[in-house]
Amino acid sequence: MNILLIGGGGREHALAWALKKSPRIHRLIAAPGNPGIAAIAETAKLDAADHAAVVAFCRDTAIDLVVIGPEAPLVAGLADDLEAAGIRVFGPSKAASALEGSKAFTKELCAEAGIPTAAFRRAATLEAGLAALQEMGAPIVVKADGLAAGKGVVVAETLEEATKAIEACFSGAFGDAGAEVVLEEKLVGEEASFFAVTDGETVVPLATAQDHKRTFDGDRGPNTGGMGAYSPAPVMTDDMIARTMSEIVEPTVAAMRARGTPVRGVLYAGLMITDEGPQLIEYNVRFGDPECQVLMMRLTSDLAELLMAAAEGTLAETEVTWSDDAALTVVMATRGYPGPVERGSGIRGLEAIDDPDTVVFHAGTSLDGSRLVASGGRVLTVTATGATIAEARERAYAAVAKIDWPEGFFRSDIGNRALDR
Ligand code: ATP
Repeated sequence: MNILLIGGGGREHALAWALKKSPRIHRLIAAPGNPGIAAIAETAKLDAADHAAVVAFCRDTAIDLVVIGPEAPLVAGLADDLEAAGIRVFGPSKAASALEGSKAFTKELCAEAGIPTAAFRRAATLEAGLAALQEMGAPIVVKADGLAAGKGVVVAETLEEATKAIEACFSGAFGDAGAEVVLEEKLVGEEASFFAVTDGETVVPLATAQDHKRTFDGDRGPNTGGMGAYSPAPVMTDDMIARTMSEIVEPTVAAMRARGTPVRGVLYAGLMITDEGPQLIEYNVRFGDPECQVLMMRLTSDLAELLMAAAEGTLAETEVTWSDDAALTVVMATRGYPGPVERGSGIRGLEAIDDPDTVVFHAGTSLDGSRLVASGGRVLTVTATGATIAEARERAYAAVAKIDWPEGFFRSDIGNRALDR
């Protein structure tokens, strides 16, 4: 089959790497891709925001399946336009993407379907937000409703902090994402991520992971898109996985179907594992980055078959298998990330890494002639497997040590939480 993969980050490099292992793949084309992807697949200059151009490209190149990596094209309705044109797509419709695109939508769905999640209140004006705060008290979590790249959430310990966060939300700082605010009870426990794939009816559990969102060691510094991750998450015991499936993920898929907006694609549940069991913090409707990298290194069944089955509605007949090995990834970012960064610094030493259990997935890289240079905040995700998280971590950091990139930085404590258990 011919696959068009939309995206060009570390997540898409990992998807391309796993797809390439499938004997069913004839052509794999990534748009826009990146230099890491270009080494294993074709790349195309195609603007994912121009849906008509994507449809025309799929027809011209006889694409059998479009796999959409990032959230922006999903929320913009790329899957709907492809489906309307009769092109198979792995990724949810615009309506189903509201699970990620609107926190208020997901909270209402949870309330309706009895899915365990923090108690909440919605407010569409500053006055209503402050009144709800007075009723709920502190500590409290204040969230801008829409997509704000992780910057729209404040865990406030005091009423004063919460008031500031609500004011910031209505100040216009988050654009449309801040048109409404969601106030949530603060949950206490350990966070973990749970991944599943669904065709709208059948849900197949994938695997669990944990990530490190803060910039620096010891969970200090500003929030980022993620500085590292590992899989499996030790806190996700078989019992927690079974409860997450039956109490959270399956009721969500059923509720979305009942609303006439079935969700097809990835369901990535951000969870808080509390004393009472798993509680839903948020949904994403695509693979996480860098969680995708660790998942793909552990997947032993055919990814192309899995994604096609989800798109075709035949997941019930598809088997997914995983390695018992753990995987861990260390993100290397340009100094200054998550703030503004300088582009163009040279990266050397990748060729010195020749361990079959280690893969360096490219995120923000580009080629300057034949020279590999940094072209973004998060630049490389160095990913390794091992019999244990400790072994995977040792391998990943051994590879990081071989990379010669003075302008880059990384966290040296990825996996600590799992190893401390
Ligand atoms: P991101 O996509 O970057 O994870 P987001 O903007 O989609 O973030 P959430 O995932 O809802 O927002 O919240 C971000 C973080 O805030 C969570 O990972 C968690 O650490 C914390 N958080 C959110 N809601 C709660 C809650 N009810 N109780 C405790 N902590 C919470």
